[in-house]
Amino acid sequence: MTTFSDLGLAESLLRAVAAEGYETPTAIQAAAIPHGLAGEDVLGIAQTGTGKTAAFVLPMLQRLAADGRKPEPRTCRALILAPTRELAAQILDCIRAYGRFLKLSSTLVVGGVKAGPQIKALTPGVDILVATPGRLLDHMGEGVVRIDTARVVVLDEADQMLDLGFFPAIRRIMAKTPKTRQTQLFSATMPEAIRALAADFLKAPKEVRATPVSKPVERIAQRVIETAAEDKRAVLTDILRNEAQGRTIVFTRTKHGADRVAKHLAQAGLPAAAIHGNKSQNQRIRALEAFKSAETRILVATDIAARGIDVDGVEHVVNFELPNVPEVYVHRIGRTARAGANGIAISLCDPMERKLLRDIERLIGKTLLQASPAPSNGLPRPGKPEGSKTAPTRRRRRKHSPRRVSDAA
Ligand code: AMP
Repeated sequence: MTTFSDLGLAESLLRAVAAEGYETPTAIQAAAIPHGLAGEDVLGIAQTGTGKTAAFVLPMLQRLAADGRKPEPRTCRALILAPTRELAAQILDCIRAYGRFLKLSSTLVVGGVKAGPQIKALTPGVDILVATPGRLLDHMGEGVVRIDTARVVVLDEADQMLDLGFFPAIRRIMAKTPKTRQTQLFSATMPEAIRALAADFLKAPKEVRATPVSKPVERIAQRVIETAAEDKRAVLTDILRNEAQGRTIVFTRTKHGADRVAKHLAQAGLPAAAIHGNKSQNQRIRALEAFKSAETRILVATDIAARGIDVDGVEHVVNFELPNVPEVYVHRIGRTARAGANGIAISLCDPMERKLLRDIERLIGKTLLQASPAPSNGLPRPGKPEGSKTAPTRRRRRKHSPRRVSDAA
Protein backbone atom coordinates (compact mmCIF):
# COMPACT_ATOMS: atom_id res chain seq x y z
CA MET A 1 0.00 0.00 0.00
CA THR A 2 1.25 3.48 -0.87
CA THR A 3 2.39 5.55 2.09
CA PHE A 4 2.74 9.31 2.35
CA SER A 5 6.52 9.01 2.30
CA ASP A 6 6.34 6.94 -0.92
CA LEU A 7 4.77 10.01 -2.50
CA GLY A 8 7.91 12.08 -1.99
CA LEU A 9 6.65 14.38 0.72
CA ALA A 10 9.15 16.19 2.93
CA GLU A 11 9.62 15.21 6.54
CA SER A 12 7.86 18.29 7.95
CA LEU A 13 4.75 17.43 5.94
CA LEU A 14 4.89 13.76 6.90
CA ARG A 15 4.91 14.84 10.52
CA ALA A 16 1.95 17.16 9.94
CA VAL A 17 -0.21 14.51 8.24
CA ALA A 18 0.68 12.07 11.01
CA ALA A 19 -0.39 14.69 13.54
CA GLU A 20 -3.72 14.93 11.69
CA GLY A 21 -4.12 11.20 12.22
CA TYR A 22 -3.87 10.28 8.52
CA GLU A 23 -2.30 6.87 8.10
CA THR A 24 -2.37 6.31 4.37
CA PRO A 25 -3.04 8.62 1.44
CA THR A 26 -6.49 8.54 -0.12
CA ALA A 27 -6.84 7.55 -3.78
CA ILE A 28 -6.87 11.13 -5.02
CA GLN A 29 -3.86 12.00 -2.85
CA ALA A 30 -1.84 9.02 -4.07
CA ALA A 31 -2.67 9.94 -7.66
CA ALA A 32 -2.29 13.73 -7.51
CA ILE A 33 0.55 14.45 -5.06
CA PRO A 34 3.46 13.15 -7.19
CA HIS A 35 2.30 15.29 -10.15
CA GLY A 36 1.81 18.28 -7.88
CA LEU A 37 5.32 17.88 -6.48
CA ALA A 38 6.73 17.58 -10.00
CA GLY A 39 5.20 20.96 -10.83
CA GLU A 40 2.81 19.46 -13.36
CA ASP A 41 -0.68 20.73 -14.03
CA VAL A 42 -3.41 18.55 -12.53
CA LEU A 43 -7.03 18.07 -13.51
CA GLY A 44 -8.67 16.40 -10.52
CA ILE A 45 -12.10 14.82 -10.58
CA ALA A 46 -13.02 14.47 -6.95
CA GLN A 47 -15.84 15.46 -4.69
CA THR A 48 -15.48 16.74 -1.18
CA GLY A 49 -14.79 14.00 1.33
CA THR A 50 -12.18 12.31 -0.83
CA GLY A 51 -9.20 14.13 0.69
CA LYS A 52 -8.81 16.38 -2.33
CA THR A 53 -7.76 19.42 -0.29
CA ALA A 54 -4.60 17.72 0.96
CA ALA A 55 -4.05 16.47 -2.60
CA PHE A 56 -3.35 20.00 -3.78
CA VAL A 57 -2.29 21.70 -0.53
CA LEU A 58 0.56 19.30 0.41
CA PRO A 59 2.53 19.65 -2.85
CA MET A 60 1.91 23.39 -2.87
CA LEU A 61 3.36 23.74 0.63
CA GLN A 62 6.36 21.63 -0.25
CA ARG A 63 7.19 23.55 -3.41
CA LEU A 64 6.79 26.96 -1.76
CA ALA A 65 8.92 25.92 1.23
CA ALA A 66 11.60 24.43 -1.02
CA ASP A 67 12.24 27.55 -3.04
CA GLY A 68 12.46 29.56 0.16
CA ARG A 69 11.61 32.94 -1.34
CA LYS A 70 9.64 35.55 0.57
CA PRO A 71 6.56 37.22 -0.90
CA GLU A 72 6.95 40.79 -2.13
CA PRO A 73 4.65 43.34 -0.47
CA ARG A 74 1.08 43.18 -1.82
CA THR A 75 1.65 39.94 -3.71
CA CYS A 76 1.08 36.25 -3.16
CA ARG A 77 3.17 33.23 -4.15
CA ALA A 78 0.23 30.87 -4.52
CA LEU A 79 -3.47 31.41 -5.10
CA ILE A 80 -6.42 29.13 -4.37
CA LEU A 81 -9.86 30.09 -5.66
CA ALA A 82 -12.93 28.56 -4.04
CA PRO A 83 -16.66 29.12 -4.64
CA THR A 84 -17.83 29.85 -1.10
CA ARG A 85 -16.61 31.55 2.03
CA GLU A 86 -17.03 28.36 4.02
CA LEU A 87 -14.99 26.28 1.65
CA ALA A 88 -12.28 28.94 1.45
CA ALA A 89 -12.10 29.05 5.26
CA GLN A 90 -11.86 25.28 5.41
CA ILE A 91 -9.03 25.21 2.88
CA LEU A 92 -7.18 27.80 4.96
CA ASP A 93 -7.61 25.57 8.02
CA CYS A 94 -6.05 22.68 6.09
CA ILE A 95 -3.14 24.85 4.91
CA ARG A 96 -2.41 25.86 8.48
CA ALA A 97 -2.74 22.31 9.79
CA TYR A 98 -0.56 20.71 7.11
CA GLY A 99 1.88 23.63 7.14
CA ARG A 100 2.25 23.80 10.90
CA PHE A 101 5.97 22.92 10.75
CA LEU A 102 6.71 25.34 7.92
CA LYS A 103 7.12 29.08 8.02
CA LEU A 104 4.64 29.99 5.30
CA SER A 105 2.04 32.72 5.66
CA SER A 106 -1.54 32.32 4.47
CA THR A 107 -4.64 34.47 4.46
CA LEU A 108 -8.27 34.53 3.43
CA VAL A 109 -9.97 36.98 1.07
CA VAL A 110 -13.74 36.47 0.96
CA GLY A 111 -16.84 38.61 0.59
CA GLY A 112 -19.41 39.36 3.29
CA VAL A 113 -16.86 40.54 5.83
CA LYS A 114 -14.94 43.80 6.28
CA ALA A 115 -12.19 44.51 3.75
CA GLY A 116 -9.93 46.36 6.21
CA PRO A 117 -8.35 43.36 7.96
CA GLN A 118 -7.86 41.63 4.60
CA ILE A 119 -6.04 44.67 3.20
CA LYS A 120 -3.84 44.73 6.29
CA ALA A 121 -3.00 41.06 5.93
CA LEU A 122 -2.15 41.47 2.25
CA THR A 123 0.05 44.56 2.64
CA PRO A 124 3.30 42.78 3.61
CA GLY A 125 2.62 40.07 1.00
CA VAL A 126 1.50 36.51 1.68
CA ASP A 127 2.72 33.08 0.63
CA ILE A 128 -0.71 31.50 0.08
CA LEU A 129 -3.86 33.44 -0.66
CA VAL A 130 -7.20 31.62 -0.47
CA ALA A 131 -9.98 33.66 -2.06
CA THR A 132 -13.45 33.74 -3.46
CA PRO A 133 -13.41 35.38 -6.91
CA GLY A 134 -15.53 38.50 -6.33
CA ARG A 135 -13.65 39.92 -3.37
CA LEU A 136 -10.29 39.06 -4.90
CA LEU A 137 -11.19 41.06 -8.01
CA ASP A 138 -12.20 44.00 -5.79
CA HIS A 139 -8.82 43.94 -4.05
CA MET A 140 -6.96 43.57 -7.32
CA GLY A 141 -8.89 46.51 -8.77
CA GLU A 142 -7.90 48.68 -5.81
CA GLY A 143 -4.25 47.71 -6.08
CA VAL A 144 -4.34 45.88 -2.75
CA VAL A 145 -2.82 42.71 -4.18
CA ARG A 146 -1.10 41.54 -7.35
CA ILE A 147 -1.24 37.94 -8.45
CA ASP A 148 1.29 37.99 -11.31
CA THR A 149 3.68 36.46 -8.79
CA ALA A 150 1.58 33.33 -8.16
CA ARG A 151 3.65 30.27 -9.04
CA VAL A 152 0.86 27.89 -8.18
CA VAL A 153 -2.85 28.45 -8.84
CA VAL A 154 -5.65 26.12 -7.76
CA LEU A 155 -9.28 26.30 -8.86
CA ASP A 156 -11.24 24.23 -6.34
CA GLU A 157 -14.79 22.98 -6.87
CA ALA A 158 -14.83 24.38 -10.38
CA ASP A 159 -18.30 22.98 -11.08
CA GLN A 160 -19.67 24.95 -8.18
CA MET A 161 -17.93 28.10 -9.39
CA LEU A 162 -19.57 27.51 -12.77
CA ASP A 163 -23.01 27.15 -11.15
CA LEU A 164 -22.49 30.35 -9.20
CA GLY A 165 -21.64 32.28 -12.36
CA PHE A 166 -17.99 32.87 -11.45
CA PHE A 167 -16.44 31.90 -14.76
CA PRO A 168 -16.12 35.46 -16.18
CA ALA A 169 -14.46 36.51 -12.90
CA ILE A 170 -12.16 33.49 -13.03
CA ARG A 171 -11.12 34.34 -16.55
CA ARG A 172 -10.27 37.88 -15.48
CA ILE A 173 -8.30 36.59 -12.54
CA MET A 174 -6.43 33.95 -14.51
CA ALA A 175 -5.46 36.56 -17.11
CA LYS A 176 -3.44 38.30 -14.40
CA THR A 177 -1.51 35.21 -13.30
CA PRO A 178 1.85 34.36 -14.88
CA LYS A 179 1.94 32.01 -17.87
CA THR A 180 4.63 29.98 -16.14
CA ARG A 181 2.37 29.07 -13.23
CA GLN A 182 1.46 25.55 -12.18
CA THR A 183 -2.33 25.15 -12.34
CA GLN A 184 -4.50 22.58 -10.61
CA LEU A 185 -8.24 22.35 -11.23
CA PHE A 186 -10.50 20.20 -9.07
CA SER A 187 -14.15 19.51 -9.76
CA ALA A 188 -16.65 16.89 -8.63
CA THR A 189 -18.18 16.75 -12.09
CA MET A 190 -16.65 17.48 -15.46
CA PRO A 191 -19.25 19.06 -17.75
CA GLU A 192 -18.15 20.47 -21.09
CA ALA A 193 -17.81 24.04 -19.76
CA ILE A 194 -15.23 22.87 -17.22
CA ARG A 195 -13.34 20.83 -19.78
CA ALA A 196 -13.20 24.00 -21.89
CA LEU A 197 -11.92 26.05 -18.96
CA ALA A 198 -9.32 23.39 -18.21
CA ALA A 199 -8.22 23.36 -21.85
CA ASP A 200 -7.68 27.11 -21.67
CA PHE A 201 -5.77 27.23 -18.40
CA LEU A 202 -4.01 23.89 -17.91
CA LYS A 203 -0.93 22.75 -19.81
CA ALA A 204 -0.78 19.02 -20.56
CA PRO A 205 -2.65 18.28 -17.33
CA LYS A 206 -2.42 14.94 -15.59
CA GLU A 207 -5.95 13.74 -15.03
CA VAL A 208 -6.56 12.12 -11.67
CA ARG A 209 -9.80 10.98 -10.15
CA ALA A 210 -11.23 9.75 -6.88
CA THR A 211 -14.21 7.42 -6.75
CA PRO A 212 -16.48 8.42 -9.59
CA VAL A 213 -19.29 10.69 -8.51
CA SER A 214 -21.90 8.23 -9.68
CA LYS A 215 -20.82 5.69 -7.07
CA PRO A 216 -21.88 6.81 -3.62
CA VAL A 217 -19.84 5.47 -0.77
CA GLU A 218 -20.69 1.82 -0.21
CA ARG A 219 -21.06 2.35 3.52
CA ILE A 220 -24.13 4.60 3.19
CA ALA A 221 -27.49 2.89 3.59
CA GLN A 222 -29.94 4.76 1.37
CA ARG A 223 -33.68 4.80 1.79
CA VAL A 224 -36.58 6.71 0.31
CA ILE A 225 -39.83 7.51 2.08
CA GLU A 226 -42.75 8.33 -0.14
CA THR A 227 -44.94 11.00 1.33
CA ALA A 228 -47.30 13.78 0.35
CA ALA A 229 -45.60 17.18 0.28
CA GLU A 230 -47.82 18.46 3.09
CA ASP A 231 -46.84 15.54 5.34
CA LYS A 232 -43.12 16.04 4.98
CA ARG A 233 -42.64 18.10 8.09
CA ALA A 234 -44.42 15.55 10.26
CA VAL A 235 -42.41 12.72 8.70
CA LEU A 236 -39.19 14.66 9.29
CA THR A 237 -40.06 15.28 12.93
CA ASP A 238 -40.79 11.60 13.33
CA ILE A 239 -37.45 10.60 11.79
CA LEU A 240 -35.52 13.04 13.97
CA ARG A 241 -37.28 11.91 17.13
CA ASN A 242 -37.22 8.18 16.60
CA GLU A 243 -34.46 7.26 14.23
CA ALA A 244 -31.97 10.02 13.47
CA GLN A 245 -31.06 10.83 17.04
CA GLY A 246 -27.43 11.69 16.40
CA ARG A 247 -25.78 14.36 14.30
CA THR A 248 -27.98 14.94 11.27
CA ILE A 249 -27.95 17.25 8.26
CA VAL A 250 -31.33 18.04 6.68
CA PHE A 251 -31.13 19.31 3.11
CA THR A 252 -33.67 21.59 1.53
CA ARG A 253 -33.72 22.91 -2.00
CA THR A 254 -34.25 26.56 -1.18
CA LYS A 255 -33.19 29.15 1.36
CA HIS A 256 -36.77 29.79 2.41
CA GLY A 257 -37.35 26.08 2.72
CA ALA A 258 -34.38 25.82 5.09
CA ASP A 259 -35.75 28.59 7.28
CA ARG A 260 -39.25 27.09 7.31
CA VAL A 261 -37.95 23.64 8.24
CA ALA A 262 -35.69 25.01 11.00
CA LYS A 263 -38.61 26.99 12.41
CA HIS A 264 -40.90 24.00 12.32
CA LEU A 265 -38.29 21.86 14.08
CA ALA A 266 -37.78 24.46 16.79
CA GLN A 267 -41.54 24.49 17.38
CA ALA A 268 -41.48 20.72 17.58
CA GLY A 269 -38.83 20.88 20.30
CA LEU A 270 -35.97 19.90 18.00
CA PRO A 271 -33.63 22.89 17.87
CA ALA A 272 -31.77 23.11 14.58
CA ALA A 273 -29.22 25.48 13.12
CA ALA A 274 -29.88 26.70 9.58
CA ILE A 275 -27.21 27.65 7.08
CA HIS A 276 -27.83 29.26 3.70
CA GLY A 277 -26.81 32.19 1.55
CA ASN A 278 -29.22 34.69 3.12
CA LYS A 279 -27.50 34.38 6.47
CA SER A 280 -24.67 36.72 7.33
CA GLN A 281 -21.17 35.32 7.45
CA ASN A 282 -21.21 35.49 11.24
CA GLN A 283 -24.53 33.66 11.46
CA ARG A 284 -23.19 30.94 9.20
CA ILE A 285 -20.02 30.59 11.21
CA ARG A 286 -22.00 30.43 14.44
CA ALA A 287 -24.41 27.81 13.06
CA LEU A 288 -21.53 25.67 11.85
CA GLU A 289 -19.63 25.97 15.08
CA ALA A 290 -22.74 24.98 17.04
CA PHE A 291 -23.11 21.92 14.82
CA LYS A 292 -19.43 20.97 14.97
CA SER A 293 -19.31 21.31 18.73
CA ALA A 294 -22.51 19.22 19.05
CA GLU A 295 -24.30 22.11 20.74
CA THR A 296 -26.92 21.67 18.00
CA ARG A 297 -27.21 18.18 16.58
CA ILE A 298 -29.36 19.14 13.61
CA LEU A 299 -28.19 21.34 10.74
CA VAL A 300 -30.63 22.43 8.05
CA ALA A 301 -28.76 23.44 4.93
CA THR A 302 -29.08 24.31 1.27
CA ASP A 303 -26.66 22.67 -1.13
CA ILE A 304 -24.51 25.65 -1.88
CA ALA A 305 -24.20 26.78 1.72
CA ALA A 306 -23.30 23.24 2.73
CA ARG A 307 -20.82 22.77 -0.06
CA GLY A 308 -17.46 21.72 1.26
CA ILE A 309 -18.65 21.63 4.85
CA ASP A 310 -16.74 18.87 6.47
CA VAL A 311 -17.97 17.62 9.81
CA ASP A 312 -17.09 14.16 11.02
CA GLY A 313 -19.62 12.05 12.86
CA VAL A 314 -22.69 12.92 10.77
CA GLU A 315 -24.83 9.82 11.18
CA HIS A 316 -27.81 10.75 9.06
CA VAL A 317 -28.47 12.88 6.03
CA VAL A 318 -32.14 13.59 5.41
CA ASN A 319 -33.18 14.97 2.05
CA PHE A 320 -36.29 16.94 2.95
CA GLU A 321 -36.51 17.70 -0.75
CA LEU A 322 -34.73 15.89 -3.53
CA PRO A 323 -32.20 17.94 -5.46
CA ASN A 324 -32.90 18.98 -9.06
CA VAL A 325 -29.50 17.78 -10.19
CA PRO A 326 -28.84 14.09 -9.54
CA GLU A 327 -25.12 14.56 -8.82
CA VAL A 328 -26.07 16.83 -5.93
CA TYR A 329 -27.73 13.84 -4.27
CA VAL A 330 -24.38 12.08 -4.23
CA HIS A 331 -22.70 15.15 -2.71
CA ARG A 332 -25.36 15.42 -0.07
CA ILE A 333 -25.27 11.86 1.13
CA GLY A 334 -21.46 11.97 1.09
CA ARG A 335 -21.67 14.16 4.22
CA THR A 336 -22.26 11.04 6.21
CA ALA A 337 -20.09 7.89 6.37
CA ARG A 338 -16.89 9.93 6.64
CA ALA A 339 -13.65 8.68 8.03
CA GLY A 340 -14.64 5.02 7.88
CA ALA A 341 -17.97 5.44 9.69
CA ASN A 342 -21.28 4.09 8.45
CA GLY A 343 -24.01 6.47 7.46
CA ILE A 344 -27.68 6.54 6.63
CA ALA A 345 -29.33 8.69 3.99
CA ILE A 346 -33.11 9.09 4.04
CA SER A 347 -34.89 10.95 1.26
CA LEU A 348 -38.46 12.20 1.41
CA CYS A 349 -40.09 11.99 -1.99
CA ASP A 350 -43.45 13.50 -2.85
CA PRO A 351 -45.32 12.61 -6.04
CA MET A 352 -43.94 15.68 -7.83
CA GLU A 353 -40.39 14.50 -7.12
CA ARG A 354 -40.71 11.03 -8.60
CA LYS A 355 -39.01 12.18 -11.77
CA LEU A 356 -36.06 13.55 -9.80
CA LEU A 357 -35.82 10.26 -7.94
CA ARG A 358 -35.68 8.34 -11.22
CA ASP A 359 -32.82 10.56 -12.41
CA ILE A 360 -30.95 9.86 -9.18
CA GLU A 361 -31.54 6.12 -9.45
CA ARG A 362 -30.24 6.15 -12.99
CA LEU A 363 -27.10 8.01 -11.93
CA ILE A 364 -26.28 5.71 -9.02
CA GLY A 365 -27.43 2.58 -10.82
CA LYS A 366 -29.61 1.48 -7.96
CA THR A 367 -33.34 1.37 -7.29
CA LEU A 368 -34.16 3.20 -4.09
CA LEU A 369 -37.91 2.80 -4.28
CA GLN A 370 -40.13 0.13 -5.72
CA ALA A 371 -42.37 1.49 -8.45
CA SER A 372 -45.67 0.68 -6.78
CA PRO A 373 -48.36 3.20 -5.80
CA ALA A 374 -48.15 4.93 -2.42
CA PRO A 375 -50.36 3.42 0.28
CA SER A 376 -53.72 5.09 0.61
CA ASN A 377 -53.53 5.45 4.41
CA GLY A 378 -51.18 8.41 3.97
CA LEU A 379 -48.49 6.81 6.09
CA PRO A 380 -44.99 6.92 4.74
CA ARG A 381 -43.75 3.68 3.29
CA PRO A 382 -40.08 2.89 3.61
CA GLY A 383 -38.32 2.29 0.35
CA LYS A 384 -36.88 -0.98 -0.77
CA PRO A 385 -33.60 -1.71 0.93
CA GLU A 386 -30.57 -0.75 -1.05
CA GLY A 387 -28.58 -3.19 -3.05
CA SER A 388 -31.15 -4.08 -5.65
CA LYS A 389 -30.00 -3.24 -9.12
CA THR A 390 -32.13 -0.99 -11.25
CA ALA A 391 -34.27 -3.11 -13.54
CA PRO A 392 -33.49 -1.86 -17.03
CA THR A 393 -36.92 -2.78 -18.36
CA ARG A 394 -38.57 -0.30 -16.02
CA ARG A 395 -36.30 2.54 -16.97
CA ARG A 396 -37.94 5.05 -19.18
CA ARG A 397 -35.34 6.44 -21.55
CA ARG A 398 -35.34 10.17 -21.18
CA LYS A 399 -32.76 12.63 -22.25
CA HIS A 400 -31.34 14.18 -19.14
CA SER A 401 -30.28 17.77 -19.09
CA PRO A 402 -29.10 19.17 -15.77
CA ARG A 403 -31.22 21.96 -14.42
CA ARG A 404 -29.93 24.92 -12.55
CA VAL A 405 -30.92 25.35 -8.95
CA SER A 406 -32.11 28.92 -8.85
CA ASP A 407 -32.74 29.53 -5.18
CA ALA A 408 -30.12 27.25 -3.78
CA ALA A 409 -27.53 29.50 -2.17
P1 AMP B 1 -11.63 16.84 1.69
O1 AMP B 1 -12.11 15.91 0.61
O2 AMP B 1 -10.36 17.50 1.34
O3 AMP B 1 -12.73 17.79 2.07
O4 AMP B 1 -11.29 15.94 2.99
C1 AMP B 1 -12.27 15.21 3.66
C2 AMP B 1 -11.85 14.74 5.04
O5 AMP B 1 -10.89 13.70 4.95
C3 AMP B 1 -11.23 15.79 5.95
O6 AMP B 1 -11.82 15.63 7.22
C4 AMP B 1 -9.78 15.43 6.01
O7 AMP B 1 -9.22 15.82 7.25
C5 AMP B 1 -9.83 13.93 5.87
N1 AMP B 1 -8.63 13.35 5.24
C6 AMP B 1 -7.92 13.87 4.21
N2 AMP B 1 -6.92 13.04 3.87
C7 AMP B 1 -7.00 11.97 4.69
C8 AMP B 1 -6.24 10.76 4.82
N3 AMP B 1 -5.22 10.49 4.03
N4 AMP B 1 -6.61 9.89 5.79
C9 AMP B 1 -7.68 10.16 6.59
N5 AMP B 1 -8.43 11.27 6.51
C10 AMP B 1 -8.10 12.17 5.57
